[in-house]
Amino acid sequence: MTEPATAQGGVTRDEAMAVAEAARETEWKHPSFVAELFMGRFRPGLIFPYPLQSESDKKTGDEFLAKLEKFLREHLDPDEVDRTHEIPVEVIKGLADLGCFGMKIPTSYGGLGLSQVNYNRSIALVASYCASTAVWLSAHQSIGAPQPLKLFGTEEQKKKYFPLFAKGFISAFALTEPDVGSDPARMSTTATPNADRSEWTISGDKLWCTNGPVADIMIVMARTPDRMVDGKARRQITAFIVERNTPGVEVVHRCEFMGLNGIQNGLIRFNNVRVPAKNILWDEGRGLKLALTTLNTGRLTIPAACTGTAKQSLRWVREWSNERVQWGAPIGRHEAIAQKISWMAATTFAMEAVTYYTSGLADRGDADIRLEAAIAKLFCSEASWKIADETVQIRGGRGYETARSLRARGEKAIPAERALRDARINTIIEGSSEIMRLVIAREAVDRHMQVAGRILQPGLAVQDRVRAAGKAALFYAVWYPTRWFHLAWPPRYLFLGRSLASHLRFAHRHTRRLSRAIFHAMLRHGPGLEKRQAVLYRIVDIGVHLFAMTAAVSYARTLARQNPADRTPVDLADLFCRQARRQIRSLDCAIWCHDDTRSYRVARQVLDGRMTWLEKGAIGETP
Ligand SMILES: Cc1cc2nc3c(=O)[nH]c(=O)nc-3n(C[C@H](O)[C@H](O)[C@H](O)COP(=O)(O)OP(=O)(O)OC[C@H]3O[C@@H](n4cnc5c(N)ncnc54)[C@H](O)[C@@H]3O)c2cc1C
Repeated sequence: MTEPATAQGGVTRDEAMAVAEAARETEWKHPSFVAELFMGRFRPGLIFPYPLQSESDKKTGDEFLAKLEKFLREHLDPDEVDRTHEIPVEVIKGLADLGCFGMKIPTSYGGLGLSQVNYNRSIALVASYCASTAVWLSAHQSIGAPQPLKLFGTEEQKKKYFPLFAKGFISAFALTEPDVGSDPARMSTTATPNADRSEWTISGDKLWCTNGPVADIMIVMARTPDRMVDGKARRQITAFIVERNTPGVEVVHRCEFMGLNGIQNGLIRFNNVRVPAKNILWDEGRGLKLALTTLNTGRLTIPAACTGTAKQSLRWVREWSNERVQWGAPIGRHEAIAQKISWMAATTFAMEAVTYYTSGLADRGDADIRLEAAIAKLFCSEASWKIADETVQIRGGRGYETARSLRARGEKAIPAERALRDARINTIIEGSSEIMRLVIAREAVDRHMQVAGRILQPGLAVQDRVRAAGKAALFYAVWYPTRWFHLAWPPRYLFLGRSLASHLRFAHRHTRRLSRAIFHAMLRHGPGLEKRQAVLYRIVDIGVHLFAMTAAVSYARTLARQNPADRTPVDLADLFCRQARRQIRSLDCAIWCHDDTRSYRVARQVLDGRMTWLEKGAIGETP
């Protein structure tokens, strides 16, 4: 199965990959549970005990959340936002007065200085009520200026901008362009320096820039002149702080979507916008790395928002399934609906476990969260879409009816259809599910590629190939047998109680099995494994389930210890793990037994237009 080496925008796939590779984060010091897992090392010690908030951090969060909830209930009508496509200015002002635009800004600069956990709790709360408002806040501070400024800004930049944000200035993050979405290395917006490099001129279009139409400040990624590295010209991408009132910044169009009607999102044009060199963020040429690093933590907001909406859905479904009687019983008593409810509850529990484990890691500051954050984003966004869908199904016709219409005829205004529309975007933005799986897969096979990839590299001199083979043989002589046989008796995890212990033992065994599968897939496909996305995705999905299982068990154990009288967290983790184990087993079989080649062939036939007969009978595009 081959992917063409496209040359859109004059950039080949290999060039784009080289820019993206150079931008990868490689400087984390502390081990990642997931990275270890893909190497066949199950290290529950990295997740146990579950990292709960400290008492004082929780108190800070609880107090802020109480104020935020009161404000939202009293001042914001999310259905009006959905209908009018506007969040009232006084609501934005009220949120600013509460400090919501400075949640992540350190207190020394006038912000609230919330931890990542408290910030995510706040976003989850807002998202459970009004997803559009949550996106305003998160586009501003998860990816907008505060986050990259905090990570990479100079003291001068922080002193200038942080107090403004803390007061309510709004920011945006402009990376995507009409021709480049998942593959930003190929961007065409340019920034050209003047003769003494004291000023840069930015030209180009940025698409779908959330908050863009109303932002006071934007972080804009642009292509700057190539640099020579080892005799080769290397593409450079640089991040600039651009103030909205700079001449040449134009809002060309406010985009409208299937959901999130209240967000301000637009096509922003930069017509020869002149920016002083001191507005370069981090360094010349480090823009893509800045964007990817910002997204590592930034994308944690999505699992938080998804968890908030899943909790809200669970409440709607519980109330409705008790209240609605059909065929002589509340619908929640019919097994088909009961199954959906229990799946929703167990999955919401696992989402919460994954989200706050990863947020806690982010608060540590020194841990490698790339894989955990990518999995949290992937797992929670996909789960929340299914939860929103099941909620509509359980609500029946009322699930499809708008809250406004329900209210108008005297029923409870449950906005299940709005929640479904709003949830859909989460698997697309800040790294689509497909890209998240690729990112995780690359890390999963990375160590193997480092050790063995060179042997299979085309064009390598014989002596280099022999040397690489020797190194790989040494590594695998120890690694491979120990992925089959234990040197010591495997842990029984009996401290967890019977059911949870069995799940952890399964995860332990399966981690080895997964790493062997990665190794065997690499032997079978060689460097071509990189392009076998279907195989890689199954490997990734097994890893996702193993991580979510371990996080859920750890979370349940901690909650059960806090309140031994309440067994429900253990029941939820147990059910989630049982369901995850079933999925892992089927993914396991599918790594080797699949119809990928046939399926790819049919896709090619569709793409080549050989099956257009199947499209006959449908009306084509609207004029
Ligand atoms: C509501 C909304 C808000 C947004 N906010 C912002 C923002 O604030 N700032 C910003 O910069 N951008 C923003 N975006 C852009 C968003 O991040 C992109 O839509 C996203 O990165 C995907 O890019 P794309 O839509 O161009 O899809 P494409 O990259 O064209 O992808 C199309 C499809 O192909 C898949 N695909 C692409 N490459 C591969 C591959 N190699 N292998 C397998 N599958 C692949 C994708 O997963 C997707 O399913 C926003 C978009 C929306 C809709």
